[in-house]
Amino acid sequence: MRKIIYPGTFDPIHNGHIDIATRAAKLFDVLEFVVAINVEKEPLFTVEERLSLITDSTKHIKNIKVNQFTGLVVDYAKDSDSIAIIRGLRHVSDFEFEFQMAMMNFHLNPDIASLFMMPDEKYIHLNSTVVKDVVKNGGDISAFVPSCVNEALLSKYSV
Ligand code: ADP
Repeated sequence: MRKIIYPGTFDPIHNGHIDIATRAAKLFDVLEFVVAINVEKEPLFTVEERLSLITDSTKHIKNIKVNQFTGLVVDYAKDSDSIAIIRGLRHVSDFEFEFQMAMMNFHLNPDIASLFMMPDEKYIHLNSTVVKDVVKNGGDISAFVPSCVNEALLSKYSV
């Protein structure tokens, strides 16, 4: 079975993430979203909330799994019998960080491939911070997030 993991913070998941996951899932038997537990970041949504929003937002993709992890992503990949890591690439600005991480991950475990996909151009400027900022300031983000995420954001900010 060919399995790939999609690691990230997903605070919260948005249509750019779903676009990458939908297309990457077609190339593998299983795509597993893995929510990174990073104690240094202060996310808006708890890990449980993020897992649940990912699960609800990806029901239409049959071969998706959802999990959480701490530690090194290559270790999680190996322990979960995955052969690759998928990451989204938006701008050239993403490239430098992703390149460094891919090189280090290759050093740590050359058996785990790092794969990159560009999103549909309508999501190229989208990130979770922008999504939160728009809702926080009373804007409509419904074109860029699944309805469950929109509702969760509205209730977090009590708009
Ligand atoms: P981070 O990895 O910085 O915690 P995220 O959790 O938001 O950020 O992102 C997880 C993965 O999804 C990363 O590979 C990131 O590049 C990708 N991603 C984020 N936003 C988009 C987008 N709009 N289109 C495509 N991929 C994206």
